[in-house]
Amino acid sequence: MNHDHQGQSGSQGSQGSDTIDQRGIPTNACVVCGGNVMVVKVVFEDYEIAGYLLDAECADCGSLLTAPCPLDRPEGHIEDWNN
Ligand SMILES: [Zn+2]
Repeated sequence: MNHDHQGQSGSQGSQGSDTIDQRGIPTNACVVCGGNVMVVKVVFEDYEIAGYLLDAECADCGSLLTAPCPLDRPEGHIEDWNN
């Protein structure tokens, strides 16, 4: 008998049968469940968030997604930095 092993390294979550891999397109919210809370890895500097990794995960359903950043915003190109 041939058992095809697909490259999935075990299921870590208990829930989430409907998760899909949404990585590649920066999004503000999960397209599966609509949740807008993501699990991301952030970098802190001087008690503030200095950056974050774009590899994210929906906090609700666990789908993999790509976190957005201002550069991904289609409209509203940053033209003025009036600080
Ligand atoms: Zn989700």
